[in-house]
Amino acid sequence: MFFKNLFSHPAESAPLMVLYGTKSGNSKTVAEELAKQLIRQNIEHRVSSMSKVKPQQLKDVERALLVVSTHDDGEPPVKARKFYRQLQAADMPGLEQLQFAVCALGDSSYDSFCEAGKTLESRLLELGAKEILPRKDCDEEFAQPAVEWIKEVLTRLKKGEELTDEIELESSKWYNGTLKQREVLSVDAENNSTYHLEFECPEAAGNYKSGDLLDVIPENPADLVLALCEKLEAPQLAAAFATEKEITRVNRQLLKAYAGATLNKSLAELLTQNEALNTYLKNANVLDLLNDFPAEISGEKLLSLLPPIRIRQFSISSVPNAETPIDLMVKTVRFQFNGKKHLGAASSWLNESSTPGSPIRFRLAANPDFHMPADSNTPILMIAAGTGVAPFRAFVHELEQQHFPANAWLLWGEQLHHHENRYYSEFSAISQQHGNFLFDAVESRNQQKPMYVQDWLLEKHHELAAFINHGAHVYVCGSKAMGEGVEKALQQIFPDSAAWEIFKSSGRYHWSCY
Ligand SMILES: Cc1cc2nc3c(=O)[nH]c(=O)nc-3n(C[C@H](O)[C@H](O)[C@H](O)COP(=O)(O)OP(=O)(O)OC[C@H]3O[C@@H](n4cnc5c(N)ncnc54)[C@H](O)[C@@H]3O)c2cc1C
Repeated sequence: MFFKNLFSHPAESAPLMVLYGTKSGNSKTVAEELAKQLIRQNIEHRVSSMSKVKPQQLKDVERALLVVSTHDDGEPPVKARKFYRQLQAADMPGLEQLQFAVCALGDSSYDSFCEAGKTLESRLLELGAKEILPRKDCDEEFAQPAVEWIKEVLTRLKKGEELTDEIELESSKWYNGTLKQREVLSVDAENNSTYHLEFECPEAAGNYKSGDLLDVIPENPADLVLALCEKLEAPQLAAAFATEKEITRVNRQLLKAYAGATLNKSLAELLTQNEALNTYLKNANVLDLLNDFPAEISGEKLLSLLPPIRIRQFSISSVPNAETPIDLMVKTVRFQFNGKKHLGAASSWLNESSTPGSPIRFRLAANPDFHMPADSNTPILMIAAGTGVAPFRAFVHELEQQHFPANAWLLWGEQLHHHENRYYSEFSAISQQHGNFLFDAVESRNQQKPMYVQDWLLEKHHELAAFINHGAHVYVCGSKAMGEGVEKALQQIFPDSAAWEIFKSSGRYHWSCY
């Protein structure tokens, strides 16, 4: 059976379908609230994750209400990607009979804001479907616009019964914690440090699962704020630059708006050069923009063009427990561009500007696709590079509390491992005490045998195949580049690409790369 029934209806005819594509669970929450309201209105429907249906099934549907979030430069959630691929296929049948509405969740500080919702809408229109409502784009605080969308949908669909005002989606809860302790874990060849941080907040410390994330809104680097104020001769804007606006990054939208406001020809030209533009978008901050494309622009005008400062996510590296702190593992982003030092906002704020006792406002973000298997007797393989090991520290400690009911295997790659690194020592000690926990560490800058995690995976091909054949779940965490390399290596463990695709969609493959 493809659908989870919320309101009984024979499978062969599904006049109204609610579909969601979700990563953190927000789109699912919106879809379920909509479904609840449909039940109240006696409107028959089915609700399902996009991962459980084929878009061809929309051929038998009169109306579809779709909720989807956007991730990774404009992509739909991982679990919805197959649905999207099939929807885009050339042999996808026409959907002339279908009426639809889309609610898109996203973050407006990204150029690709709500892109997955936009793609869905345009493809459905291309296939002949008719939109019953304009697409609703919801920003970070999605609750209110999503409720508005639900109300608009119900107004179109309702059968007689008056709408009640009881539609409620909980806004996300922000906590006030304190930085309790910070400890350096390692320093890489470029002199960038990785720290272990502990936050005290008993109210939140038991409210997450191993594998979940912590959201923070950082304060921007003080040097950059000062330099901007000086450049613009606008000291009165210091607070806004420090806490309200995105200044450590630039996005395409900002460059376009700045080019429009200043009529700067060189910037207009850069906007037409893909490669150079991408390099600029990857490295430049707002001070670079002012220096590289000088123009008469007031501080207030510039401020009005800047996107709001955006949330940064970090994997929680501790096991949930109301009586212990919440831990993070954070690497400072620091690099040279235009001959000047550049700092990442959140990583430098957490690792350098904050001091023990500093307040920190944060939100817990569920990462349901990256939780440990529900059955603790399931073996797991954890593959990490750098700070990607953070969620696995939580996994390993949780499994240790349960005396490792099944085999757990951790592979961790670093440039060089520092054996006094607290996380390294913990993993080594636990693996010595528990035969069920295997810990392997590889080094990409080892003088004798440099090795990336993907090389190790290929070397251990046979053992890994056996481990996976015993039902292991595979978890991958680290940079996107590492994740892609790991994926290529893992693919070779499977007899063919079909077997790999089956494994990937089996619910046993978990990927959280950034
Ligand atoms: C699901 C998830 C989990 C994450 N978990 C962790 C974690 O456990 N530990 C951790 O340290 N980080 C983690 N990150 C990354 C983290 O969210 C931030 O992106 C990172 O700390 C940089 O943010 P920033 O504010 O310091 O830099 P920003 O101010 O956002 O960026 C400043 C500049 O640095 C560049 N930049 C950003 N990141 C990098 C990078 N890694 N290398 C080179 N240049 C970069 C940007 O392009 C920009 O030009 C995670 C991200 C996600 C999505």
